[in-house]
Amino acid sequence: SMAVANLKGVSADANDIAEAALYLGSEESRLQGKAALITGGASGIGETTARLFARNGAKVVIADVQSELGHSVSKKMESETGQPVSYVHCDVTKESDIENAVNAVVSKHGKLDIMFNNAGITGKYDPSIFSTEAEDFKKVMDINVYGGLLGAKHAARVMIPEKKGCILFTASLAAVIYGGVPHAYTASKHAVVGITKNLAVELGQHGIRVNCISPVAVFTPSVGRAMGLDEKTLEAVNLAIANLKGVKIDVNDMAEAALYLGSEESKFVSGFNLVVDGGFSLRHSALGFDKS
Ligand code: NAD
Repeated sequence: SMAVANLKGVSADANDIAEAALYLGSEESRLQGKAALITGGASGIGETTARLFARNGAKVVIADVQSELGHSVSKKMESETGQPVSYVHCDVTKESDIENAVNAVVSKHGKLDIMFNNAGITGKYDPSIFSTEAEDFKKVMDINVYGGLLGAKHAARVMIPEKKGCILFTASLAAVIYGGVPHAYTASKHAVVGITKNLAVELGQHGIRVNCISPVAVFTPSVGRAMGLDEKTLEAVNLAIANLKGVKIDVNDMAEAALYLGSEESKFVSGFNLVVDGGFSLRHSALGFDKS
């Protein structure tokens, strides 16, 4: 297994399969002493993941463009969890900002173990080809795809000498099912899955794992705004259309997926798109063309 492995320097055995089974049947995992950088960490999935990572012993740096919010949520998380949580202003589309954010983690915590490229936007929420506009398309691709790639590049820069590390992305259900969302968003999230797999092959040679999560729609400020739904309505829609019946899901379920992929329990998992949708995408390959 060691000789033919894509992910170098990790020996796998039956325990890794047991850990995967244990994780999928339990709630918590641990990140004791790990340093994590989370883009888009001031809100939604990133914010919830930052809190869960800190609760599990990680030192967390939140990178976002919402500075006031980023400072206040990181301060609150620090006092809630007792772990160091800080904020750095970072527009993921600017390479100097990403470089600075990665360097800030290394100078504060001595290393970067987990880079979570989570920042993303839906863009103008109109699924029609006739509404697709160049500026909007480019902005969505710039933030969702190029921003994530820059994050991976600067994480790899500091992880390669350590011969280990974990890079995560947030893709979307829009990477595996079709319709109902803007073309730019679908294109960007397919690209994120492609980049995850391409990087897993390249960086596996340096002991670095690369994975992504693909969330079903869960209520966050941007999803609420884009879809024009409140939390209760989205929850009711999710319960009504779910493949897996009787399970209420929310933003915490996405944070738990990131926690599994960021932890040692997944130490031989790389190039994987963890679709968190209760099997919805197996039942439906497309949504209606309208916003319903
Ligand atoms: P959110 O708006 O709550 O969080 C996104 C964060 O990214 C915000 O804090 C925002 O300020 C930040 N951001 C935006 N542009 C940025 C930039 N250029 N540089 C740095 N930060 C920037 O939304 P969310 O739903 O938590 O989204 C997080 C990720 O999850 C996105 O990639 C989104 O596409 C993906 N996603 C969300 C859902 C969902 O249902 N919530 C489903 C699938 C995928």
